[in-house]
Amino acid sequence: MRAKLVIASHNKGKVREIGELLAAFPLDVVGAGELGLGEPDETGDTFIANAVLKAEVACAASGLACLADDSGLCVAALNGAPGIYSARWAGADKDFGFAMKRVETEMAAIGSPDKRAYFVCALALARPGKPTLSFEGRAYGSIEFPPRGEHGFGYDPIFLPEGHRFTFGEMREAEKEAISHRTHAFAKLTASGALSELI
Ligand code: IMP
Repeated sequence: MRAKLVIASHNKGKVREIGELLAAFPLDVVGAGELGLGEPDETGDTFIANAVLKAEVACAASGLACLADDSGLCVAALNGAPGIYSARWAGADKDFGFAMKRVETEMAAIGSPDKRAYFVCALALARPGKPTLSFEGRAYGSIEFPPRGEHGFGYDPIFLPEGHRFTFGEMREAEKEAISHRTHAFAKLTASGALSELI
């Protein structure tokens, strides 16, 4: 029987995407929703704190190894905002056109020439009876207006990765994934050997 790894998220897209990133490991990847687990409030004040919180709550409830992620966009001129509030800036309707407009409005109000920004992906792996591990990956770049590109999701159309001519929104999935914050975080998780230990 394959070992189970719970993805501490109720977002089916995220569970599927993480399942794909972990395809090389013979693990039975299941979402927290499928197991009927609750969803804790994200009360942490860092990406890592929120990922650890989600992973540990799911691990305590299921008795299984649980992986959680927390991600977002940090804009230098906005002191790191929207940061851990990246999803919330899009409102209940998940309107990222609105969220990107807010970034534009707030950057214009500050009037700084500083366009630097980075995406963060924090991962936490909680295991019964073992210390929780956490990993962070980043993708550095700058904010560009107007938004460009139809690919990706969230803030992708306004993020121009360092050393590239195309925004994440203009890149094909494979191109973005080669340099993304999520890929960097998963590379660290894989290199830690913790996933191999679960098998
Ligand atoms: P989470 O699902 O609570 O971690 O929220 C992450 C939010 O950060 C998403 O709703 C997006 O707004 C934003 N975000 C994270 N990663 C990306 C990305 O790769 N591209 C665009 N937006 C992202």
